[in-house]
Amino acid sequence: MERRIIGIAASDGIAIGKAYLLTEPDLSFEKKSVSDIEGEINRFNDSLEISKTEIQAIRDRVAETVGDEEAQVFDAHIMVLSDPELIDSIKTNITTNEVNAEQALMEVTGMFVNMFESMEDNPYMQERAADIRDVTERVLSHLLGVKIPNPSSIQEEVVIVAKDLTPSDTAQLNRDFVKGFVTDIGGRTSHSAIMARSLEIPAVVGTKTVTEGISDGDMVIIDGLGGNIIINPDEETLASYDEKRTKFEQQKEEWKLLKNAETVTKDGKHIELAANIGTPKDLVGVIENGAEAVGLYRTEFLYMDSADFPTEEEQFNAYKEVLEGMDGKPVVVRTMDIGGDKELPYLKLPEEMNPFLGYRAIRICLAEPEMFRTQLRALLRASVFGKLRIMFPMIATLNEFREAKKILEEEKAKLIQENIAVSEEIEVGIMVEIPAAAVLAHQFAKEVDFFSIGTNDLIQYTMAADRMNQQVSYLYQPYNPSILTLIKHVIDSSHAEGKWTGMCGEMAGDQTAVPLLVGLGLDEFSMSASSVLKTRSLMSKLDSTEMKKLADKAINECTTVEEVIELVDNMKELLV
Ligand code: PEP
Ligand code: MG
Repeated sequence: MERRIIGIAASDGIAIGKAYLLTEPDLSFEKKSVSDIEGEINRFNDSLEISKTEIQAIRDRVAETVGDEEAQVFDAHIMVLSDPELIDSIKTNITTNEVNAEQALMEVTGMFVNMFESMEDNPYMQERAADIRDVTERVLSHLLGVKIPNPSSIQEEVVIVAKDLTPSDTAQLNRDFVKGFVTDIGGRTSHSAIMARSLEIPAVVGTKTVTEGISDGDMVIIDGLGGNIIINPDEETLASYDEKRTKFEQQKEEWKLLKNAETVTKDGKHIELAANIGTPKDLVGVIENGAEAVGLYRTEFLYMDSADFPTEEEQFNAYKEVLEGMDGKPVVVRTMDIGGDKELPYLKLPEEMNPFLGYRAIRICLAEPEMFRTQLRALLRASVFGKLRIMFPMIATLNEFREAKKILEEEKAKLIQENIAVSEEIEVGIMVEIPAAAVLAHQFAKEVDFFSIGTNDLIQYTMAADRMNQQVSYLYQPYNPSILTLIKHVIDSSHAEGKWTGMCGEMAGDQTAVPLLVGLGLDEFSMSASSVLKTRSLMSKLDSTEMKKLADKAINECTTVEEVIELVDNMKELLV
């Protein structure tokens, strides 16, 4: 029977495919005594062999697609499963205690894990403990006949169904096979949603219950335009969504005609239309969608994709690649913004009650300046390969900005002394994503070269509504007059000092927000690459003077978000 669920539309498009469940497997079992010892040992041997073959296959695939270094962890896993001390102890346990293989496996591996983990200051032993845990889970799953999901091994077209997807899960999804995803939790500005937009795969998040009562292989429609999920659709529904999918593809083809067009409003005002990226690979999308700049390069993904801190050289190469790839067009590189939903295991951050309000981004960089200096040196060295703009995230106070800028200047002076070329034209700005910085924008504007408004965070902090929490997503209101008022203050303050303001939060590509932001005089819009062309199309229909009136009305006359939406919708109906 067809079942419908509503969630939050996170990435445009319609995907139809078989479900691939990416959920925690149930590996519970009971201790049993066994009489057929030989049979039990054979059962254990079989699970062991299948596990080894599987790990070898994953190893080979990772070596081919990612690299030999990353594949090495799987060699370590195979070694664990070939270690006679461990394996013989498990078999002896089955024989002497006459217990089932599951029990024997867990007892023995548990003992080894405890032993290695107790050697606290020995990182090598800590890693061995993690390896044993990992392979134990795999062998146990085979003993129990339970599937452990492994997204990197997907070899057929599927849609992913998960409770949650972390940014690193999302990065591993193979676009050739993964046609879309749907999750129980998350919001439109969760980083997995943002990544879905840059991968251009349809996604719906925050459904609360999609993982309940769904099985691998069920047919699923993901409507990333309307936020609907349909499980096991009937013929009629399938046909209607097939039609919607075709229409959307046609619409995209029309937008593509604007790829090389200038971004101008109906009355001829030029606006800089930029795209956000997470890695140099995303440049393909930026160029295909005709963006005029990179308005936000989230460098933390460089840190997250690596097993340890990326070296100055690795960072330099990545930044150079992006600057050269943009061929002289501006690139705003944001310094590392770890924290919130972006974890960095090797940084060993403390567990926090409120990670979004905690030790993150510029706060970490100022507390650990060596890491920060490495990044700044790499950026400064890369600056001669294009038009670099450096941006600091999560700035709350002017002192933070001054301190970050001072460190940047120190590194610049050192490089010049070493006779290493550095561009003289680097603009240095901040993300305005903490209300304190927005309120004090008139002071900041005297010292920064530009602002980029990070509405993803600015909205959550202003409304006190977690951007990841679907239960309070009704309060996550980009068009609330309070947010518009803050944005206006930031833009006006920058203009008063002859500076410019961009926006790199998801609101910049939101089709209801765009007319208001044009009216407020926003200079640069940076968004997921997949939103660039539809935004260029919309802007070409807007008159900037009319939009100014619209924005003034929204701020001065509207009292609720509903009134603002109605105001914009009424205006849009008149567009041709
Ligand atoms: C923002 O907060 O708006 C932003 C662009 O940064 P991030 O989404 O990475 O927090
Ligand atoms: Mg942010």
